[in-house]
Amino acid sequence: MALIVQKFGGTSVADIEKIQNVAKRVIQAKGEGNSIVVVLSAMAGETDRLIDLAYRASDNPTEREYDVLISTGEQVTVSLFAMILNKMGHKAKSFLGHQVKILTDKSHTKARILNVDTDRINYELGRGSIVIMTGFQGVNQEEDITTLGRGGSDTSAVAIAAALNADVCEIYTDVDGVYTTDPNICENARKLKKVSYEEMLEFSSAGAKVLQSRSVELAKIYEVPVYVRSSYNNEEGTLVTKEDEDMEKEVVSGVTYDKDQAKVTIGQVPDKPGIASRLFTPLSDRNIVVDMIIQNASIEGNTDLTFTVSKKDMSEVQAILEKVTRELGATRIDYDENISKVSIVGVGMKSHAGVASRMFTALAGEGINILMISTSEIKISCVVESKYTELAVRVLHDAFGLDYKD
Ligand code: ADP
Ligand code: ASP
Ligand code: MG
Repeated sequence: MALIVQKFGGTSVADIEKIQNVAKRVIQAKGEGNSIVVVLSAMAGETDRLIDLAYRASDNPTEREYDVLISTGEQVTVSLFAMILNKMGHKAKSFLGHQVKILTDKSHTKARILNVDTDRINYELGRGSIVIMTGFQGVNQEEDITTLGRGGSDTSAVAIAAALNADVCEIYTDVDGVYTTDPNICENARKLKKVSYEEMLEFSSAGAKVLQSRSVELAKIYEVPVYVRSSYNNEEGTLVTKEDEDMEKEVVSGVTYDKDQAKVTIGQVPDKPGIASRLFTPLSDRNIVVDMIIQNASIEGNTDLTFTVSKKDMSEVQAILEKVTRELGATRIDYDENISKVSIVGVGMKSHAGVASRMFTALAGEGINILMISTSEIKISCVVESKYTELAVRVLHDAFGLDYKD
């Protein structure tokens, strides 16, 4: 008998009929003798609707109340799911984050899970119940509700699986696995049978939203096998696990994109020691992730600094920077939200020359201008105008020979 955590994303629980369908899948796994913990997202579109409501109530909603509101979508799906299982004759109970105690830090809207109390879950499983948990939400030390950032139900599922020492964490979604790129924009994308935690982490942090990157971090630390599959069919999915011999060792194994980025340029900053620290410390104090950073060579003692942040952090970034740049004597700040980041990822890149130039040549061949570049050992990212995102992804997928062939 195995202990399985099954997470269903928003499209899998989008209406009563879909919930009934996935409930059958849960019942089947239970009927095979397994203990099942289900983790659910809100119905597709619901979290967006709640966020929109929050901004209609206030242009700067209090973070505590924002989390109270946007976490409610998951309360709806867990209760409906339990009702449906009960109606089908199965013991099932729903729980919110604070009831089992998914303890997080205090940073509202992007909290990190610190601990999962397993007592109540184990007690209910011991009584033969299917346990249905809300994804996305937790509670902090002050007993306030927190949320884990968009896509955070993946992280809830992996954290619960790690705490319970589950045999596997199954992520059910609207695609049947992890592909070489988003199959919804590139029809030649190829499904990967297995992918290592390291590579998946690069995929996710570079924008492949099929798994939230924090969930992959946790899976890697606690060695939780994560199996990504479709909630609509029984196709074999993708196993995210430790690197092993039979994994593909391509130079480039995938192409990702991130439309959530915005670019900030601070012009004419005096080029003195401590400037970067003065600029970026207030951002990190507010838990704002800065991704790519470029500093130009200084001319007559002044330099330009360009960096990217998440679009959703822009208003906070603007408020912080207006103040800091005035203090630093910078003359100009430009904000550009019309960009996206396109990346190629592959562990084989470490030992191959010429990968970057192949990427730049492929983009140039389509007349796509590169606005920023960053490289790591196993990833190269380019910022491009957002209107070129899909084209850039397809061109790179083709240029690195990733296309599916019959
Ligand atoms: P859920 O609501 O189930 O959490 P998400 O929308 O968060 O689903 O994630 C699934 C989506 O991830 C897919 O519909 C697909 O468009 C996108 N995606 C991006 N990159 C990839 C990739 N490399 N492989 C599979 N899906 C990807
Ligand atoms: N409902 C949340 C969101 O839409 C969490 C999730 O679906 O993973 O981001
Ligand atoms: Mg998701």
